[in-house]
Amino acid sequence: MSFNPADNIQDLQYFGEFGGVNPSISDSSTYTFLAAKSMIDTFEGNLEGCYLYSRHSSPSNLYLGEALAAMEGTEAANVSSSGMGSISSVLLQICSQGDHIVSSRTIYGGTYAFLKNFTPKFGIDTSFVDITDLDKVAAAIQKNTKILYIESISNPLLEVADIRALSKIAKENNLKLIVDNTFSPLQISPVILGADVVIHSLTKFINGTSDTVGGVICGSNQFIEDLKNVNDGASMLLGPVMDSLRAASVLKNLRTLHIRMKKHSENAMYLAQQFEKDGYKIIYPGLPSHPQHELYQSLYNEEYGYGGMLTLDAGSLEKADELMELMQERNLGYLAVSLGFYKTLFNAPGTATSSEIPIEEQEEMGLTSGLIRFSIGLDNHIERTYEDMKFCLESLKIMAHTNV
Ligand code: PLP
Repeated sequence: MSFNPADNIQDLQYFGEFGGVNPSISDSSTYTFLAAKSMIDTFEGNLEGCYLYSRHSSPSNLYLGEALAAMEGTEAANVSSSGMGSISSVLLQICSQGDHIVSSRTIYGGTYAFLKNFTPKFGIDTSFVDITDLDKVAAAIQKNTKILYIESISNPLLEVADIRALSKIAKENNLKLIVDNTFSPLQISPVILGADVVIHSLTKFINGTSDTVGGVICGSNQFIEDLKNVNDGASMLLGPVMDSLRAASVLKNLRTLHIRMKKHSENAMYLAQQFEKDGYKIIYPGLPSHPQHELYQSLYNEEYGYGGMLTLDAGSLEKADELMELMQERNLGYLAVSLGFYKTLFNAPGTATSSEIPIEEQEEMGLTSGLIRFSIGLDNHIERTYEDMKFCLESLKIMAHTNV
């Protein structure tokens, strides 16, 4: 493989101030200058290597940003205090009053709410489209469209975006292709496939310990510098800054991401295959029954697999709720939003993480009320987990709804 995101992370070498194997943490919000002139130059962006104020940048945040840029193959990256902090900064940096966005209709509920309810207050409107239909994407573009916004693997329906084809449409129409890659770190490298900017909620797989929220924007040097501009940069002025202590801890967790992703993928693949064999309605990009299975294979970095996310349709919300409660009781995972933890997490997105999307729109996109979204954990014996989950399904008389 010519581009290997995990190798790129490992090739970086950082030492601490006293030769520590981890870089020192910059435990300061502000920095001194020996010469007043250097402060002015730093403010104006004309002096490299000096720090001013931690909302602008800090050594710890730069280390983490550098590692994430290496992972995504971009020139630079800027970390932030949450995925939404990154998403809102990027959208507001690129769009001004009167601009238009074309967005995938199956995206994280918070992003959907931001585009549907928040940005219109500033005169920025969004058309939500089925991005698996390229003609519909092209047809939605207007003269004032600035952004094509997608998730590489969508939340919660696990639709796979044809990033190469969407990038072509974006380039032809002079749009920025912004990709939220939260569900598929290491597996998919959107910039290598033609995206302009990649965003992650670090809260999920990348940090992997469910102890913080965090986000990152990966892009060109120019774009990242623009975001941090003291006069008009969205990251600088909206202020969603990550704390240095947290950046240091996320960086340490990032070191094991490749091992975790392989195990998440292996476990999810096993469960998806078994439950599909049992006749349950499973959505998982690794199954040949997934509508974009072959497309995924043409996009992914193979060694990291098909990811840790899968969905199972329990038939109704009542059954989904009963199943999730029983699985939690039997210690198979937790009924919780979020994803990417060592433990399996599950929720019914129609009433939770996608509840911002109106019911009619949920139905139209195929988000059924009984759909359970699983973030499969790092279980050591997935065969044992499967047997126990099957016991839960059978004891609640949840019937199989075949894919075929
Ligand atoms: N993008 C995706 C795909 C998500 O699932 C989430 C959160 O669930 C976000 C962005 C927002 O990230 P955060 O919660 O870190 O703000």
